[in-house]
Amino acid sequence: MAEIPRSTEIVIVGGGAVGASTAFHLAVAGATDVVLVERGQLAGGSTAKSAGGIRLQFGDELNVRIGARGLTELERWNELIGAHVDFVPDIAFHQTGYLFLLSDEADLATFTTALAVQHALGVPTQLITPAEAKAIVPQLVVDDLIAATYCARDGHMSPEAVTQGYAAAAAALGVRIVQGVEVTDIEHAAGRISAVRTSAGTIMTGTVICAAGAWSGEIGRLAGIDIPVHGMPRHMWFSPENGGLSDTMPLTIDFATGFYSHREGPGLVFGGREAEVEEVAVHALHRLPVIGELPIQSSWWGFYDESPDHNAIVGESATLSRFLYATGFSGHGFQQAPAVGEYLAELYVGAAPTIDMSSFTVDRFADGIERTETFIV
Ligand SMILES: Cc1cc2nc3c(=O)[nH]c(=O)nc-3n(C[C@H](O)[C@H](O)[C@H](O)COP(=O)(O)OP(=O)(O)OC[C@H]3O[C@@H](n4cnc5c(N)ncnc54)[C@H](O)[C@@H]3O)c2cc1C
Repeated sequence: MAEIPRSTEIVIVGGGAVGASTAFHLAVAGATDVVLVERGQLAGGSTAKSAGGIRLQFGDELNVRIGARGLTELERWNELIGAHVDFVPDIAFHQTGYLFLLSDEADLATFTTALAVQHALGVPTQLITPAEAKAIVPQLVVDDLIAATYCARDGHMSPEAVTQGYAAAAAALGVRIVQGVEVTDIEHAAGRISAVRTSAGTIMTGTVICAAGAWSGEIGRLAGIDIPVHGMPRHMWFSPENGGLSDTMPLTIDFATGFYSHREGPGLVFGGREAEVEEVAVHALHRLPVIGELPIQSSWWGFYDESPDHNAIVGESATLSRFLYATGFSGHGFQQAPAVGEYLAELYVGAAPTIDMSSFTVDRFADGIERTETFIV
């Protein structure tokens, strides 16, 4: 049984990308009396199941800015993490862009509006023709497309390596990382937290940061806070062969069907909205027929942590002092982990936010001011 301290300033629940990033940013901000409690293994939740995509192409300007902040941090990964540890995990950053394929006039209108938002923030997304999309990925069938968008700064990387790097650097700064221990209760009264109960004993603390991904609703209930998030299963498949798709292939998404693919090691991964490979294959074979010639070696599934408006739920409780939370990422939580971890650390220490995410507070649902993200895969 893992040993846990009897008391600490801050307990982080969850050791995915968000919990690890939060631990790192807290430590950098000087808050090192922190225990991160993970019931399984680091990155063992949705994080390791992720396609690892990071993009600047969003509809909501806040998501564009959150993506840009994360990208900037991950572009200087070796320097950032290497300042604290000798061994920096290779995050295998393939900055080969994101290519969104559009076949629907309504989607094109949505993307055109979003392009203006992205351009105003300096994002170099291009609206391109189907022929130009085919020039980027020659194996694509583009006859029924009406347009595509491409942003060369987007890309994909290893979510496990990012999580391990943040956790290692946080630990080097004094954060205690405890794996194999489950948070079972949060003791609180009169609007204050006094302790966290775990499967390995009780930790006295005044602060809880919920980074429990799709399971954050359960942690919220322990604290008496309603966090409207639910787990939506999403499936992926891996082929050890690549069918001649180039090393520089962007993360390519058929927006209407949700089918997507990117190169992974010597082969490729693909996924979609459906659970059965035969169902996803209908879209894959239509758009990228070469996939039909490739062997499938493995498959897996994980949860999207879905919120009602497909935007993150991030903030500090207005009713329970020092209960902070970050979940509801709806398919883009890996890429938002760097900026969200930084924001939670700033909220905790009372620093001015680098990016103000106050409109992502859970209170927006009760206040009737939801804001919908449209670039959902
Ligand atoms: C197939 C798929 C593809 C995806 N592709 C992308 C993508 O390309 N880009 C992107 O940005 N996002 C993607 N996502 C979404 C992304 O994976 C998640 O949004 C992100 O990993 C959430 O990170 P997290 O740290 O909040 O949650 P998690 O990684 O789920 O971590 C939460 C952790 O909390 C732990 N936990 C829960 N309850 C307790 C408890 N009571 N006590 C202790 N520990 C607890 C869990 O064990 C878990 O490890 C994808 C998701 C899936 C499933």
